[in-house]
Amino acid sequence: MTENQEHWIKDHWDEPKGRTLCVKIKDHLHSVRTDFQQIDVYETECFGRALVLDGVINVTEFDEFAYHEMIVHVPLHTHPAPRRVLIIGGGDGGSIREALKHPTVEEVHLCEIDREVIEACKQYMPSVAVGFDDKRVSVFCRDGAEFVKERKGYYDVIIVDSSDPWGPATVLFQQAFYQDMAGCLNDTGLIATQSESMFFDRSTIHTLLAFGQEIFAIGRYYYTLVPTYPSGTIGFFLGSKKSDPLQPRLCHIEGLRYYNTAVHRTAFSLPPFVMQPVKS
Ligand code: SAM
Repeated sequence: MTENQEHWIKDHWDEPKGRTLCVKIKDHLHSVRTDFQQIDVYETECFGRALVLDGVINVTEFDEFAYHEMIVHVPLHTHPAPRRVLIIGGGDGGSIREALKHPTVEEVHLCEIDREVIEACKQYMPSVAVGFDDKRVSVFCRDGAEFVKERKGYYDVIIVDSSDPWGPATVLFQQAFYQDMAGCLNDTGLIATQSESMFFDRSTIHTLLAFGQEIFAIGRYYYTLVPTYPSGTIGFFLGSKKSDPLQPRLCHIEGLRYYNTAVHRTAFSLPPFVMQPVKS
């Protein structure tokens, strides 16, 4: 390692194509190798604390609100009265925090494969990992793809707050998993899943939309802006059995910084290139 590399997080998200995101480090707070991944937490110069999994920035204190508000409030404002919510992945706690803001929510189940992510975030990112002690929350440390095979017709909303489609998250981008999630929902249920960047991952998005629209009556892609992710954008697949996300219900939640009804609606308006065929 050179002197320079030691003081920068180098997010090697597509090094073969010459694309690496660098963020300057102030301090390396935590490092552990688990059965699933390498976990690091850094204090950075300009983005606060950062959770890095297998070298990829997953959460920073600077912009996590733009991700968590949109992965949670879009589906929870689409469902008419969400009571039972399942979050798969999401071990940092940001999605739990946002789901608990909805007055109708009675139960939040979190299924995170790696307990060490939860422990690291409770210790080093307390503003994100705030909801774990709420009595409505239950935590299951298991593979989400296995978990959804066992529960039938139970949830109103499933949120897949997963890392990128490799390692333990590979299964969370497969058709069989989407089929099992549909079986886990009740008749009015819906899902929102982390579905990558419209600039760099269009073939993944097209694949998810193709099978997602077969499984769900309504299937749409929407996006948010997150400066510390590759390309500064990340999107979500919203699959719904009944409610149309283009008609969100009005429910004012105090203190949100990214989500409002206008942002909800416009997030589904995609530039034309997104659905154009991908040249190999
Ligand atoms: N916002 C993030 C992003 O897109 O970079 C996602 C953050 S969250 C920390 C992702 C979590 O998904 C990780 O903690 C990881 O352990 C978890 N995860 C990966 N594969 C999983 C699986 N098969 N079942 C449950 N959780 C999984």
